[in-house]
Order: sequence, then C-alpha cells, then structure tokens
Amino acid sequence: MQVPPRESKPAATPLIDRFGRRVHYVRFSVTDRCDFRCVYCMSERMTFLPRARVLTLEELAMLGRTFVELGASKIRVTGGEPLVRRNILWLFQELGQLRERGLAELVLTTNGSQLERMAADLKAAGVARINISLDTLDPARFRRMTRAGELDAVLRGIRAARAAGFQRLKLNAVILKGRNHDEVTSLARFAIENGLDISYIEEMPFGAINDHDRTEAYYSSDAIRADLEGVFVLAPTTESTGGPARYYRVPGTDSRIGFISPHSHNFCDACNRVRVSAEGRLLLCLGQEHSVDLRHVLRAHPGDRERLKQAIVAAMAIKPRGHDFLLGGQTAIPRHMNHTGG
Ligand code: SAM
Ligand code: SF4
Repeated sequence: MQVPPRESKPAATPLIDRFGRRVHYVRFSVTDRCDFRCVYCMSERMTFLPRARVLTLEELAMLGRTFVELGASKIRVTGGEPLVRRNILWLFQELGQLRERGLAELVLTTNGSQLERMAADLKAAGVARINISLDTLDPARFRRMTRAGELDAVLRGIRAARAAGFQRLKLNAVILKGRNHDEVTSLARFAIENGLDISYIEEMPFGAINDHDRTEAYYSSDAIRADLEGVFVLAPTTESTGGPARYYRVPGTDSRIGFISPHSHNFCDACNRVRVSAEGRLLLCLGQEHSVDLRHVLRAHPGDRERLKQAIVAAMAIKPRGHDFLLGGQTAIPRHMNHTGG
C-alpha cells in the first residue's frame, strides 16, 4: 500500500494571523484564462483581464521566493487553467528550485486538458502532486458542464500523469443537484479502480453565472456521503493534505475520499493558507474581499524584496476569521473562481 503524503511540518514563519493561525501554504492563480467554461465557475461570456494587469511569470517567481523565505512550505499553482499560460513550465522550474530553500511541496490544480503533453515536464520540474478536476464520466455531460472540454483529453491526461510517475493524483468533483449528483458513486468507483484520490466539493458562490440557480443546485457533502455509504464502507481518518478536505478511506483500496464542505462543515478555524489572484491581489480569505495589492508593491518598487516581505507580513493583520457564504447569493463574492485560484 502507498504511504500517503503527510502535511508538511510548518517552518518557523512570521506569517501568523490575529487568531494565531500559521500561514504556510500559498496558492497562485497564474492566469484567469481557461480553455473550459465550467458552468459553476464562469458565465458563458467572460471578459478576461488585459495582459498588463496579470502578474508576469517573473513576478510570480519572485513572489514564490519571497513566500518561501517567509516560511511558506507549500505552493499550489492554479488559475484559470495554469497549463494554458504560455511558458508556464519556466515558472514551475523556477518554483521547483525553491525545494532547496525550504519549499516542501509544489503542487498543481488543473482541468487536465494539457496534461498529456506536459505531465512529464511537470514531474521533472519538481511538481509533487496534481489535482485534476473531473465532474462527470459522461462525454456529452462533460461537454455541457465545461461548455468546451473533451472528456477523453482529460482521461488521456490522467493516464499521462500516471505514466510520468505521479503517485497520488486527486480528482476534484464539484457536485450539482440535477447536473451530476447521480454520478457520485461512479466517480468514486473510477477513482478506486485507477488508484486515485477524490474530493467532492460543494459549489461556492463566486462570481455571476448564468447556468443555474446555486441554491437549487446545492448538493451537500452529507448527501454525497450518504450516496457513497450506500455502496462503499467509508472509514474516517485524520489524514490531511494540508487543505480543507476531510478524508475517509475505503478499506481494501488505496483511495482516499475527501469532502470540501464550505457550506455544511466550515473549515476556517484550521485555515493555513492565502491566495494570490491573477492580478496580484493577496487574498487573505477565499470568501472575503480583504486583500493587499502585491502587484503595486512589485511594480512600484522593482526588486525590493524587503518591501514585498513587509507587505505580506503586514497583511496577516487583516486575515479575517472566516467566510460566511450563504446560499441564495446575498453574500456571493463578485470575483470568479478563475481569478481567485481555487
Ligand atoms: N482550471 C483548473 C481546474 O479546473 O482544476 C484550476 C482552477 S479551478 C478554479 C480550481 C478548482 O475550483 C476546480 O477544482 C474547480 O472545480 C473549482 N471550482 C471552480 N468554481 C467553483 C465554485 N463556484 N465552487 C466550488 N468549486 C469551484
Ligand atoms: Fe476553467 Fe477550472 Fe474554472 Fe473549469 S473550474 S472554467 S477548468 S478555471
């Protein structure tokens, strides 16, 4: 049986917020662009940021170095779709070198569409783990839910990642009532048969979408768990991969089944992370707008790492206690998930 990766031990860090939470995990949204238009993430017509407003790869590399010097031990590259950004491999190679300076884990979240051609290079660059979004195993439904994606390309991408030597791949599935809730168990079976982990995610109210009413589409983690328990034995674990998922094991298999439940099981008390948006806003909480404009610091004071560090450390003072998503959209966050970096 494979040994699951444990959460890396946090290094000494000045990144501690008012509530005593240590921040040692940062997620970079490296582009707001994407080759898919998932119905829960984007509206059909999206306006993307002008290039000049998006952080350059060099700025992202500098942020990576700075966060690691401040004690961050885990960086997740996400988006938008990170693998559609031109020259993105260069950034992975730069960030990969930070493993010699204290970075324990460089990880990636992707829709999988480009993995077939990139998996081997990502492995060589030092990416430790990959999360791949997969909400359905039905090609026509996949097309409807992503509006643009091809299921087979993602399945080939998963196989390519396995072949490249990625040991623990995790699927992320956003479950929507009436769209794909009837596939909860078949997605788990697919994960188990292929030696993958899987996390089920409750949809969060980010950005205006025009596909469905989020209250009506809500399908809780408890409902998902009940569906799974009709077919599998789920043994609770205290395992963590450093993110918000609560994990279960299916005895006799290698797979872990996780639940990311922002509505039904708030995970804010154990929050250890911050995000940098595609525009360089340091977002202190996924579900609040408290932020600091790091792009301004980077561009007003080029090369001044001390100033950048001061801005990041000072930002800890405004990290909020947590999110308060409400179904019904009243507290919906106007920014879309592709800017935010899920
Ligand atoms: N494009 C990549 C992907 O799809 O994996 C990375 C970016 S995507 C924004 C990161 C994760 O956020 C995906 O697993 C996606 O399913 C999830 N996501 C997007 N919009 C969401 C929403 N409104 N609620 C919950 N999860 C969402
Ligand atoms: Fe693109 Fe990922 Fe958003 Fe889907 S969830 S539209 S793949 S950024």
